[in-house]
Amino acid sequence: MSSPTLKTRIAIVGGGMGGLALAVALSKLEAEDHLDINVYESASKLTEVGAGINFWPRGWEIMRNMGLEESLLSKLSSAEIKPCVEELRLPLSLKKGNQQKGTPILNFNSSGMYGGTFPFHRADVQAVLLDHLSPSIPCHLSHRLAKFDETGEGVVLTFTNGSTATCDLLIGADGIHSFVRKSLLAESLGISDEEAGKRARPLWTGVYAYRHIIDADALRRDYPDHPALKKMMIYCGKNKMLTAYPIRQGKLINLAPMVFHPESAGTYLNDHGVHEITTDDVASFYDNWEDEVRALVKFVTHPSKWAIQYVDPMDSYISSSGRVLLLGDSAHATPPYFANGAGLSIESAYLLAAVIDKAVKTTNGTVDVSKISKVYNTIRQPYCNAAAANSRALGSQYQFNIPGFEQYGDEEDVPKEKMSELSKLMSQGWEWTGTSVMPDLERALAML
Ligand SMILES: Cc1cc2nc3c(=O)[nH]c(=O)nc-3n(C[C@H](O)[C@H](O)[C@H](O)COP(=O)(O)OP(=O)(O)OC[C@H]3O[C@@H](n4cnc5c(N)ncnc54)[C@H](O)[C@@H]3O)c2cc1C
Repeated sequence: MSSPTLKTRIAIVGGGMGGLALAVALSKLEAEDHLDINVYESASKLTEVGAGINFWPRGWEIMRNMGLEESLLSKLSSAEIKPCVEELRLPLSLKKGNQQKGTPILNFNSSGMYGGTFPFHRADVQAVLLDHLSPSIPCHLSHRLAKFDETGEGVVLTFTNGSTATCDLLIGADGIHSFVRKSLLAESLGISDEEAGKRARPLWTGVYAYRHIIDADALRRDYPDHPALKKMMIYCGKNKMLTAYPIRQGKLINLAPMVFHPESAGTYLNDHGVHEITTDDVASFYDNWEDEVRALVKFVTHPSKWAIQYVDPMDSYISSSGRVLLLGDSAHATPPYFANGAGLSIESAYLLAAVIDKAVKTTNGTVDVSKISKVYNTIRQPYCNAAAANSRALGSQYQFNIPGFEQYGDEEDVPKEKMSELSKLMSQGWEWTGTSVMPDLERALAML
């Protein structure tokens, strides 16, 4: 509990998509009189590694509510002026691509809440978030959290650069290799830091993603009506897949070929799993695939190679005191088959900010942060854990690693009835895109 005369001190550790979204959501609340907010980021400058990032209607609704829509649209809009923002959404199509003639699995059009994505370059999204960050929220770079202790004065943070800070609520938005998650595991399971370090380690799915951006004009010259120039394409096949979609007003195409090595699934890596450049011959992995796929992968030279990892589900995202909580990948990192990990962290950020806002503005400064954390955990832990599990299940469907599909290797047709079974499964998996986070937000606010 903070003193009535003091502001509630909030420390956000991690300035990635989730941490920045939370800082922006809190910026918009104009609660400076009640809150003292600081962001601590280990990197010496804020850069977004990786390439494209998608927003689905759930995440877009939040960006709109936070007042970011216009700034984001300036990065998205095509030369052609569209009458309605919804029409700027890209449709999504899934195909079986591991044969000479690809077979459609599912098509989502761009109308309605169901399906359709807003694709961006990550750097553009980060720039928009930073533009909307209140100057009253400092972002301390080169601050890597090394330790935190809960004391009578608050949670005392110690950084590797030797500095310290004290807060009432510590939010660990420190990504898949989260230090804060490790400490919460040690506390909740009553195990040593060393043991917790082992348990908190991300597991490798066995999948490498080869992230690469190509020039849309080059693709257009070779293949003028390639569907990835106009929509998001997901090509599926045995132990391999490929995602492609246009970004930067259609000038670039974001590509993510993914290759599964089943023998490595569930193992640990000795490094962070990101190799900025690889010389792997990605095109050769797709030799027997349809023309649309080969037309894309032939451009992939020296991509950045990402081992796709995930974390075991957490039973709780908060400490027993409720003064420490996890947000985003630190709580539920999952493979990107729904392209929604950042979306989940932005949802959590928005909901948490609304809960904090209501708590501080209705309690005259005597804020019970443990109440805020409990409400947040009650709503977000089950939802995000289920979303993470569904994403892993979808990956198995994409790569034909589900019962009854094991035998369909490259160049093998899947019988029609089997294909509609797969299409139904995938369609059910994607239903969340037609939902909104707002009912959960209302539920959370009602709990205060
Ligand atoms: C190939 C691929 C494609 C993807 N595509 C999409 C997509 O289209 N849409 C989507 O929504 N999601 C996508 N994702 C998932 C998305 O990238 C992540 O879910 C998202 O970035 C998580 O955000 P975060 O803020 O939780 O963590 P991060 O973005 O990882 O941020 C964590 C931050 O914490 C900092 N940090 C770490 N440790 C410390 C410490 N001890 N002290 C201080 N700071 C620290 C890090 O430097 C980093 O800046 C994709 C992921 C991959 C791998």
